[in-house]
Amino acid sequence: MPGLEDLYREIILDHYRNPRNRGELETPPATRTEGFNPLCGDEIVVFLDVATDGTVTDIRIGGQGCSISQSSASMMSAAVKGKTIDEVKALTRAFKAMMSLHESSLDADGESGEDPLEPPAEPVKLGDLEALQGVVKFPVRIKCATLAWNTLLQGVEEATAPA
Ligand code: ZN
Repeated sequence: MPGLEDLYREIILDHYRNPRNRGELETPPATRTEGFNPLCGDEIVVFLDVATDGTVTDIRIGGQGCSISQSSASMMSAAVKGKTIDEVKALTRAFKAMMSLHESSLDADGESGEDPLEPPAEPVKLGDLEALQGVVKFPVRIKCATLAWNTLLQGVEEATAPA
């Protein structure tokens, strides 16, 4: 019987081989934000289309990089599509909390440029994203997994900035 780690690896590889929401959106109305992880050479481009009521109506992902970065971006795109900005932010917090939970105990790379993130009060369902929790065992790969989310947050800020 395959263990949980095998299952997680399968989910990650599936998203890597068959990335969801791959492509581009016309800008404007969509926003385009880019993220880069120099530690690994990962690039993520997020196209985000947010309706006036704050719903993410469409998202597309471009870029290239390692399997962790690209599968995380694919899972993210599937998870946030159709959600409201508030739900997207809660999901991002939950994901980053999962990825940083073990970071301090491992005393990873001494970098702490990011705001401390508390897990959301309401439990957020991470679904396939839980497959990435094994990455916390490899501190140098955590930035691969969070790159798409940091890029998404930039996109959300741009998309919701007052005109
Ligand atoms: Zn990477």
